[in-house]
Amino acid sequence: MVSVDHARCAYCGSCVSVCPVGALDLRETQLSISADCIECGLCLPACPMGALRSGPAPAGQSARMPAGEGATPGPPLKDRYDVIVVGAGPAGSVAAAEAAAQGLDVLLLEKRQEIGAPVRCAEGITRRALLEFIPPDAAWISAEVDTASITVVRDGREQTWVPEAPPDAAHSSVGYVLERRVFDRVLAERAARAGARVLVKTPAVGLLREDGRVAGVRIAGPWGARDIAARVVIGADGVESRVGFWAGLDTTLPAPDLMTWAQFLMGGVDIDPHCTCYYLDPALAPGGYIWIFPKGEGRANVGLGVQSDITPQPPLELLVRFVEAHRFLARGSVVTLIAGGVPVALPPAALTTGGCLLVGDAARQVDPLTGGGIANGMAAGRMAATAIAAAIRAGDVSRASLRCYEQEWAAGIGRDMARNYRLRARFPPDRRTDERFMHLFAITIGASK
Ligand code: FAD
Repeated sequence: MVSVDHARCAYCGSCVSVCPVGALDLRETQLSISADCIECGLCLPACPMGALRSGPAPAGQSARMPAGEGATPGPPLKDRYDVIVVGAGPAGSVAAAEAAAQGLDVLLLEKRQEIGAPVRCAEGITRRALLEFIPPDAAWISAEVDTASITVVRDGREQTWVPEAPPDAAHSSVGYVLERRVFDRVLAERAARAGARVLVKTPAVGLLREDGRVAGVRIAGPWGARDIAARVVIGADGVESRVGFWAGLDTTLPAPDLMTWAQFLMGGVDIDPHCTCYYLDPALAPGGYIWIFPKGEGRANVGLGVQSDITPQPPLELLVRFVEAHRFLARGSVVTLIAGGVPVALPPAALTTGGCLLVGDAARQVDPLTGGGIANGMAAGRMAATAIAAAIRAGDVSRASLRCYEQEWAAGIGRDMARNYRLRARFPPDRRTDERFMHLFAITIGASK
């Protein structure tokens, strides 16, 4: 029977089109081969990735390529870098760009074949936060927003409040709804322009260790398995981070510290194109909230998040109920379904260990009140790069040396996040319709002072 090497498969469906007995099936990213396969071999040359072979795939390695022998696109991969960044989300790409700009030799790894896709985000960011990193560009901005409305739902009745915008732009709700599919890629391209080597479809599958500290990364993917040494590894691998776990940093989230979210990108909806709408509804979104973020041209991200341990109903079902109950949405169509988890936690006890540190969602640096993590991740990426450059210059990448990153985080943005974590605890799900919480929420989303 024909077998598929999933590390190589790019789920394009080309092989399915030539199978004369219908033995191949592609569902999203999962290619399966049934027992109907007659081993005619027609599918083998139809695969542009060389992912199919006759007979069983050799365990643990690429079907056609022996470990370590695959040519990668671009300049040859080196055996050693100053910094390897695992994950090309906003945190990882900013870290890679900043480290490369400081003269370090950087490798940025991304396990997906397309950076930024699939999107797992409502894509909102304040103007102030964005401008610290990159000037706005129409290529990756879907909508500019100038107001926010907060609707509180008590006993099924909706009451909407539009906070008066704060006078100074620094605190105003003026912000953007991004097109992250493009935004994330542009950040990775900036890292490449700064000198970082970027590699897609290449997961880190483990860490190398030397003298008790992290000393590099084992990679897999279409180019074969391979070990690459690094003076420092940055774990920027998002909510699903394994780097922290591999490095011995305890990043496991207690159930109440995870928000689970479902979101529709909808087309054909009738909404204010310059207003972000939030709904605080303890019955439908306990411990979380519902959002409608305009995306221009009658499109919107419509999502719902809950504290994961307090409702048996999945957010997807609750979101369907919300859409059905609002005619201006129910008239539209869902063109994309997005799901995700967001850490709303205190950072782990340690963000660094010898030769390794964590940034972004991997470091649980998300705002516990809103679940927003793009700006925090980029800020952490920048801080981490500066700390690493200093550590490498000093020839000491021990935890003691890298800890200045952790301390800078804790004394700045981390302190605000810890405060928001405590506020979240002070307002349990059934108190989220209190006026005091509404005001607090308005301040946190930048809509009030
Ligand atoms: P990510 O963006 O998750 O990037 C991590 C990258 O690492 C991914 O590309 C992943 O493929 C890669 N990776 C993982 N493991 C490996 C591996 N082993 N090897 C190689 N690569 C790997 N935040 C906001 O600020 N505003 C919002 O409106 C907002 N809305 C959200 C809505 C939803 C539904 C969700 C789920 C989240 C939302 N967030 C929002 C949170 C925001 O998306 C994250 O905080 C942000 O993406 C974190 O950036 P990051 O770079 O740390 O991680």
